[in-house]
Amino acid sequence: MMQTGFDIEPYLQVLTRYWGYTSFKPLQEDIIRSVAEGRDTLGLMPTGGGKSLTFQVPALTNEGICLVITPLIALMKDQVNRLNSLEIKSLAIHSGMNAEEIDNALENAIYGDYKFLYVSPERISTRIFQGKASRLNLSLVAIDEAHCISQWGYDFRPSYLKIVTLRDHISDKVPFLALTASATPQVIDDIMSKLAFREKNVLRTSFERKNISYLLRKVEDKGTYLINTLQKAKGSGIVYVRSRKRCKEVAELLVSNGINADFYHAGLSVELRDKKQSSWTTGEIRVIVSTNAFGMGIDKSEVRFVIHWDIPDSIENYFQESGRAGRDNLPASAVMLYSPADKSRLLDTIRKKFPPVEKIKDVYEAICNFLQVPLGSGKDNVFDFNMSEFVSKYRLPVIETYNSLQFLQREGYMEFTEEINNPSRVHFIVSRDDLYKFQVANESFDGFIKLLLRSYTGMFSEFVPINEETLAKKSAASRNTVYQYLVKLASFNIIRFIPGKKTALVIFTEERLMRKALLISPDNYLHVKEKYEIRLNKMIEYAESENRCRSAFLLNYFGEESDRCGICDICRERNELDLSKYEFDLILEEIKSFLSENSPDPEELVKVINHPEDKVIKVIRWLFDHNKIEQDKDYRLKWKL
Ligand code: ADP
Ligand code: MG
Repeated sequence: MMQTGFDIEPYLQVLTRYWGYTSFKPLQEDIIRSVAEGRDTLGLMPTGGGKSLTFQVPALTNEGICLVITPLIALMKDQVNRLNSLEIKSLAIHSGMNAEEIDNALENAIYGDYKFLYVSPERISTRIFQGKASRLNLSLVAIDEAHCISQWGYDFRPSYLKIVTLRDHISDKVPFLALTASATPQVIDDIMSKLAFREKNVLRTSFERKNISYLLRKVEDKGTYLINTLQKAKGSGIVYVRSRKRCKEVAELLVSNGINADFYHAGLSVELRDKKQSSWTTGEIRVIVSTNAFGMGIDKSEVRFVIHWDIPDSIENYFQESGRAGRDNLPASAVMLYSPADKSRLLDTIRKKFPPVEKIKDVYEAICNFLQVPLGSGKDNVFDFNMSEFVSKYRLPVIETYNSLQFLQREGYMEFTEEINNPSRVHFIVSRDDLYKFQVANESFDGFIKLLLRSYTGMFSEFVPINEETLAKKSAASRNTVYQYLVKLASFNIIRFIPGKKTALVIFTEERLMRKALLISPDNYLHVKEKYEIRLNKMIEYAESENRCRSAFLLNYFGEESDRCGICDICRERNELDLSKYEFDLILEEIKSFLSENSPDPEELVKVINHPEDKVIKVIRWLFDHNKIEQDKDYRLKWKL
């Protein structure tokens, strides 16, 4: 092998200087080395494994700017804020910004000695971005949540497919680093091929979580079970449920039984969500009952339990959510509550997830009308989108509509963002001299302009986020007065003013089509449905399995072989038998095959199975306890189907 002379030392210095850590986790170092050698790299690490530093540290160690592609705007903003607070110059381009702001940001990225440019994927293929991409002095392209590129993954986003077009505009020396927490072998291959990796190069850690005991509990009355368990359990944790309504109900049930709990879902205001999340993080709230909206960006390592009241619809999701337990490497548990009715309820989600194609087309026409997009136009337009207003105006069923929109997204007609909180922004578009003349001529504005200039910097060169509330307090005026001042200054062409808003967005990625031209292709519907059913059934198989180590089951799904964990519910029961897995499986197989052709009584069975008698008896007892075998009225044994 060629000596590359790679030296980790400068990277370590950056790690310590900015983050205070003294060593890399094993895979981090491997990824950093691979990227330093200029190789396209796919890094697979479980959630919380430390993926961000694998691009952040190289970017800071080397010259140039790192382009980071990530789908969640809220998370993007969070990371950019965090980097800036470490005095690392970073900026973001996402759908909430207008053309002028995007242009500004790109110019800054080109000339302004920034280290990170975060971009949401649907911005990559826009003309404005591609036009300027070649002038970026790129050190690295990092693609976070890279599984979004795969149609076979559980979170496909068509805009990810366009990322590869970047290659036409940038130097081929710039490596791509794709990162994900969750990838089956098929998705792994897909990521590398869709990003046109120059060679296959996957670096992964084992997904094994040795400190988590996976427990499956078959219970009819989940409420009672939960109360009992949480009264005994120590420490803080998460209870995942499927619906917003149930979130609240379950939290109330816990509280009324003396358990310190609260609920969380995406229907709550951003402020309230932030507040609840931080109370839980600091330990003020012990148990948070939540939909799967909870978890993105949480950074709490001492989570002792993650309990699933409802079953998620894929192993990927289950692994990700349960994986929030025990990041501190101390013992933690991941419990799934399963009742016989769950299976049919879960299978019923297929119907809701896959509305009939005609219904999807109805939703398409409705949304185009709602946003007043005429036929043949709309491409690249960004609209504020209020889902609840939309469904109530057209009297559409919420879940079906939401899922129809997912198909329109999958098919590449439009994209949706989560709700984001955009502060108001101000940019002075006159020179300081002209501003001064204006102040002299318009005395009534003088005080307000001075206040603005005292409170914020940089407004002459770019849009700067401002807070009307703060300005109102400082000037002892009302918020509305501040707002009126801003609007007037904008109408005099002194400033550009973008009022803040909290909204989800729709981005049209194609012109509006006539209904009959609207295609929902089998690849994006039927095949997706098949894959979805397969994933769902795998999840059900996990819940119903009675003889495979839970941890091994999960790892196997991600293409990893493993020994049994010894601490899941199934292993624990077997531990009591005091048999090795090997012996147990051997005896079980022999019994099973014998019973397929014979109906012995227990005594006969013990005689024919060629193993020590006490061990065979243990296994038979275990099979009874687990409802695997039964006896007829003549005490003859039968393997239950
Ligand atoms: P991921 O994206 O893989 O889910 P993050 O990048 O968000 O994980 O990192 C999870 C946590 O691990 C963060 O708090 C981060 O600061 C921490 N971390 C990352 N690398 C190291 C390291 N080498 N030593 C100690 N902590 C680390
Ligand atoms: Mg991450």
